[in-house]
Amino acid sequence: MRKRRVVILGATGSIGTSARKVARDIPERMEIVGMSAHSNEAALREAGKEFPDAKLAMSSGDGGEERLIELATMPGADMVLIAIVGTAGLRPALAAIEAGKDLAVASKEILVMAGEAVMTAAREHGVQVLPVDSEHNAIFQCLEGHASEHVRRVILTASGGPFLRWPAVSLAGATPEQALKHPTWDMGRKISIDSATLFNKGLEMIEARWLFDVEMPRVDVIVHPQSIVHSMVEFIDGSVLAQLSTTDMCFPIQYAVTWPDRVPNTLPPLDFAALAQLTFEAPRRADFPALDLARHAGEIGGTLPAVLNAANEIAVDAFLDRRCSFPAIWQTVERVMNTHAPVAAPDLAAILDADSWARHRAAELLS
Ligand code: NDP
Ligand code: MG
Repeated sequence: MRKRRVVILGATGSIGTSARKVARDIPERMEIVGMSAHSNEAALREAGKEFPDAKLAMSSGDGGEERLIELATMPGADMVLIAIVGTAGLRPALAAIEAGKDLAVASKEILVMAGEAVMTAAREHGVQVLPVDSEHNAIFQCLEGHASEHVRRVILTASGGPFLRWPAVSLAGATPEQALKHPTWDMGRKISIDSATLFNKGLEMIEARWLFDVEMPRVDVIVHPQSIVHSMVEFIDGSVLAQLSTTDMCFPIQYAVTWPDRVPNTLPPLDFAALAQLTFEAPRRADFPALDLARHAGEIGGTLPAVLNAANEIAVDAFLDRRCSFPAIWQTVERVMNTHAPVAAPDLAAILDADSWARHRAAELLS
């Protein structure tokens, strides 16, 4: 039985809070040795009381990234959980890999932006990249022991978000409050808006492409409003494996930490008799263009996924600040993507250039 010594980057967020819960639940398997927050120092200090031996770091202000890198490469750690919203975890993640730490990745944005670079670096340094995003954790579990040439497709489930049943014409009037009310998951603000536009699922398609080395045509999405089936893998013989659990991020976090073992916990089991029904339906691609924009970005590859991701981040901020409408989120992303000349096989510098170009371009369009 191996005890994981884990650094949590973004320990005060929704994922960070669930990760601390997992550490309290299975202390014989998970020890928190480091934690970061960005600006909420009081919350970090509070979290530090529970884990008094953990090293603490704040990432806002001058030298913030250096402090994250120092934490992510600290000698006493063997795993780093990247639970920072957006792309600020990218350099610390790469530094952790170079220092020989396994990664548990919740921050899908870094895999969308630089999935190839992260996965290549992990292979070179012989470290694991364990998915925490519930869909990818599910696929990871279903794939175990199966050869990748036996996979026909991976099928990501999507709750459909709060606007699943809204008529398309009403989306123009959607407010941040309405968009933040997720039907099945309680999450941070950015990912909640992404779930409402379906950009979250779009980002997850690209995330799956890199995590599991499957080309975009083999990545599918199906709407499953109950969020009980977390995702599925269809094999070449037509058999499908799925992973199910109650809707709680502690499940995928625990599996990433204890992999390849399974250990008992205090999480609520599924009560099949109490589940009214599990339903599936096709996504409304025409009304939620994020899915096709992401598929396109994933197929073209190069710097285009980084551009999609960066433009989306800026547009989500504008929507939350009431500076743009809900449909303006995907309209902005599409316009920024259309004016980008993608660079093929980009190195990290080219990716970071494309990211900052897209941020400026999106801000211009929204001003
Ligand atoms: P939250 O907004 O709840 O938390 C974000 C965390 O990151 C906080 O600890 C915050 O610190 C810190 N942070 C914010 N900005 C920065 C920055 N610029 N640099 C460094 N740290 C920063 O987000 P979530 O926990 O919801 O999401 C985190 C990641 O996990 C996202 O990439 C999301 O897509 C992914 N994810 C989340 C799921 C969920 O259920 N929430 C499910 C699947 C994936 P502070 O508190 O000080 O602001
Ligand atoms: Mg997810």
